[in-house]
Amino acid sequence: MDLPVAEWKSYLLQKWSLLPKSIQATVSTAETLSDVFLHSSSLLQPEDEVFLKRLSKGYFVGKDSGAPLFYREEGNEKFQEKDYTVAAVLYSKGVSHSRPNTEDMSLCYANRSAALFHLGQYETCLKDIIRAQTHGYPERLQPKIMLRKAECLVALGRLQEARQTISDLERSFTASPTLADFPSQSVQRNLRHLKMKVQEKEDLTETFPAALAKTLEGVDLREENKQLSNASSSVSLCMDPVKGRYLVATREILPGEPLVKEDAFVSVLNPGELPPLHHSLGSKWNTRVTNADLYCHRCLRHTLATVPCDGCSYAKYCSQECLQQAWGLYHRTECPLGGLLLTLGVFCHIALRLTLLVGFEDVSKIRKLCDEVSNKDICLPESSSWVKTRNSGLGEIEKNGKIVEIPIPGCDVNGKYESNYQAVFSLLPHTENHSPEHKFLCALCVSALCRQLEAASFQAVTTGANSSQLKAAAAPELCPDVTVWGVAMLRHMLQLQCNAQAITTIQHTGCKEGIVTGSRQVRLATGIFPVVSLLNHSCSPNTSVSFISTVATIRASQRIGKGQEIVHCYGPHKSRMGVAERQQKLRSQYFFDCTCPACHSEGHGMAARPRWEAFCCSSCRAPMQGDDVLSCGRRGCAESVRRDHLASRLQDLRQQVGMAQKLLSDGELEPAIQQLSGCQRDAESFLSAEHAVLGEIEDGLAQACAALGDWQKSATHLQNSLRVVEARHGPSSVEMGHELFKLAQIFFNGFAVPEALSTIQKAEEVLSLHCGPWDDEIQELKKMKSCLLDLTPTPVGPSV
Ligand SMILES: [Zn+2]
Ligand SMILES: [Zn+2]
Ligand SMILES: [Zn+2]
Ligand SMILES: [Zn+2]
Repeated sequence: MDLPVAEWKSYLLQKWSLLPKSIQATVSTAETLSDVFLHSSSLLQPEDEVFLKRLSKGYFVGKDSGAPLFYREEGNEKFQEKDYTVAAVLYSKGVSHSRPNTEDMSLCYANRSAALFHLGQYETCLKDIIRAQTHGYPERLQPKIMLRKAECLVALGRLQEARQTISDLERSFTASPTLADFPSQSVQRNLRHLKMKVQEKEDLTETFPAALAKTLEGVDLREENKQLSNASSSVSLCMDPVKGRYLVATREILPGEPLVKEDAFVSVLNPGELPPLHHSLGSKWNTRVTNADLYCHRCLRHTLATVPCDGCSYAKYCSQECLQQAWGLYHRTECPLGGLLLTLGVFCHIALRLTLLVGFEDVSKIRKLCDEVSNKDICLPESSSWVKTRNSGLGEIEKNGKIVEIPIPGCDVNGKYESNYQAVFSLLPHTENHSPEHKFLCALCVSALCRQLEAASFQAVTTGANSSQLKAAAAPELCPDVTVWGVAMLRHMLQLQCNAQAITTIQHTGCKEGIVTGSRQVRLATGIFPVVSLLNHSCSPNTSVSFISTVATIRASQRIGKGQEIVHCYGPHKSRMGVAERQQKLRSQYFFDCTCPACHSEGHGMAARPRWEAFCCSSCRAPMQGDDVLSCGRRGCAESVRRDHLASRLQDLRQQVGMAQKLLSDGELEPAIQQLSGCQRDAESFLSAEHAVLGEIEDGLAQACAALGDWQKSATHLQNSLRVVEARHGPSSVEMGHELFKLAQIFFNGFAVPEALSTIQKAEEVLSLHCGPWDDEIQELKKMKSCLLDLTPTPVGPSV
């Protein structure tokens, strides 16, 4: 997803392997990125571009006039099945292929408004009704949509407007009695019914609260940092020869304190699983729901009511505002390149978007930064002449026996580090660490993109640029300016391997009545956050990161003492991977050897194998010890077994659990429970009680029982699963928070009031530490709590 699709990647790697050794050597030994780019791009042949173009065509992002009807019918089918969410997404797909001001578009919007109405999303439903009307909703169907509008207004408590809509509707009936393929009787009945509802509501003295306003700007840093934008004054930027740039605590920090709050400088939505490249005819349209259908392509907010780009069927937004902003900033250039960008992958897409954000007219700025890089190495000085860092954004360096102050890379002349393009540019590309073929691959992707830009929509890109630039850019050979641009994009592509930040969200899967039974972290987008990038990695970090829209918030997840380094995890976390796997991953992707405390102790065999992957004795259940051959740790027990035997048993077991999970997701509850119980018996005979697989089994059983409405059993299983999660991730980990959230819901649904209240409190405590007060799960917990408190009768005091 980050890198180009497999076909293009292997095409380029093969091309590389067939190059004469001498030419490979020129690329390998090129000293600067601009040499790498120039040498590589001169090797991009027209036939390569033809091949790439053919691949790109596999991703159809245009508008297809046959699609709206197809998706509308698919949507109607889901609507009949009462699957309103999927129906809404299918109508959205229909909208994205429709031309503005056509019946196709208006009908798709109108049908989507019906799905949203059933989902209780009245505000959004009203918006869709207006959209349907502005795109030419047929006169003969008006009563249908007007009724829905009135229903929404009633539900929202906007009674005046509801009355108005009803009387408009009545008037239009008397004006043209022929109105409608519409059985006017049923409309009349509906109208009478609605009027009664309005009356009832008006009789209620209570005024209806408008939709709950949710302020997202709830996160506040304790005090803005003067040296480091988007950070609290509890942290400070430092630098040393080994660690490079890093952040330390300037005072004692308590768990949950927000330390950095930064909007992505750039982000690109992950398309999710793409359909196979060469689809056969007929399966051109697909009804699968991906991230690209559910989240705004600019601000990443979740929405079922997307507004599509006028030019393509791929880009979709939460609102007209996001659409226009994206168009002005980058999408007018990206729109005609949709298929190509999907083929070249997210990293290449980000590289392009970054340069578009900076603005082509600012190419001189990029050139200046490039020149600085080639003249004086912006990379951290690696020699021991580096002495120490100070808190003013200046470092001190020893030169000819004298101490000289130099600015920390990325800081401005005053030593301030800001979340701007200069800071992005200063992130390390690790040019010397990437393999020559990787650099070749990236360079060719970038030059193919440059050539497409020249050929296609150059007009749009250079709006605002002077005409000489335009002429130069349109020339068939890469002109110097485009080279500068290409070199900048290549630099960004290489930087992304170490500096890309995944923007994630928690997606819930429910099985019945909206009860959450599973949750998983999904990657929504990839972005660059210049300040967050300053944090070094640790396999047992002292912070957590959470996202609202494109804004990242880093919070302390534990107490951090004054002077201690602030670290976060780049992915390889000690609770998810063994030390060897972590080290390998960090070395190959990030080019460093991790020396964090977790790696240090595990690397020296000081820590035993974690309990969540330990085996136990089949006769006495004591822990098994040893390497190739394991023997029982209890004195007097002679049990011993080969590790590979246990490993293959574990593999079989995992397969069985997988089958059970499949049954579960297909709704085959009883067979799922049977299968899981069998797995559980097997697991208990050779796995430790806190083994991850045992947790998965308990979790599956909890889901199945919840789906059957047996809340009590479900809670018992979930509590067992919770113990495993606690052993693996720790009692105040975010993973624990999500599990507690599920448990709270189970208790809530089983009306176990005291258990529910105490679990809600625990869940709130843990989650707010990691995700802050505006997290969706915390909001949900608060709702549950107030509902329970309403239920519990308040003790009546003695009347005096
Ligand atoms: Zn948006
Ligand atoms: Zn578009
Ligand atoms: Zn480590
Ligand atoms: Zn034993």
